[in-house]
Amino acid sequence: ISKESDRLESLIHDLLELSKIEGSHFLLNWQEVDLHEMIEDVKMMLQEQADKKKIDLKTKVMGNPKIEGDPHRLKQVILNLVNNAISYTPEEGNVTMRVREQAETVLLEVEDTGIGITKKELPRVFERFYRVDRARSRNSGGTGLGLAIVKHLSEAHKARLDVTSEVNKGTTFKVTFYKKGWKRKKTCKSLQ
Ligand code: ATP
Ligand code: MG
Repeated sequence: ISKESDRLESLIHDLLELSKIEGSHFLLNWQEVDLHEMIEDVKMMLQEQADKKKIDLKTKVMGNPKIEGDPHRLKQVILNLVNNAISYTPEEGNVTMRVREQAETVLLEVEDTGIGITKKELPRVFERFYRVDRARSRNSGGTGLGLAIVKHLSEAHKARLDVTSEVNKGTTFKVTFYKKGWKRKKTCKSLQ
């Protein structure tokens, strides 16, 4: 019963988050954010969860990965992606968070050596409530809102979101942020 009520609580939390960020009055609190610091924070937060599955949780940094963004929202994006990576990777696998500075952008990648997603299902994973193979994912107790939240928050940051995957090999989610994302906010309807 306590497991069910935890589930319900997290469902309600995610639904409220989603309704907030889908709304037209959703605003980001733009600040300078160091994604290096942020992935180290996320690593600390999820280390125990990774250890339980003997998953090696790694971080890799190239250059100076600073961007303009909303620190609370960016952490939500990374936490959701890494949570998934750990959930959908069998014991003794690897999960890597990578940030790389490029000319005008900073690339964030979350790579795992997990179960993967089929080509057919891949385009649908960002839909709310969509879960690949319900029977298989039932044990992990999610609700299918995590990636919908990631998608909306990436859009609000004017970032590009990509995913590549191979069944039984692993999955990589990529988010490409403009260093000066706030400059683009005028073009974003939901931020006017
Ligand atoms: P929650 O709302 O608790 O996050 P969830 O993890 O099921 O639940 P999403 O995070 O939106 O929901 O992910 C949707 C589906 O995409 C998952 O159910 C899973 O089938 C698939 N998926 C997401 N990330 C991965 C991954 N790294 N590897 C394999 N499958 C994944
Ligand atoms: Mg999830």
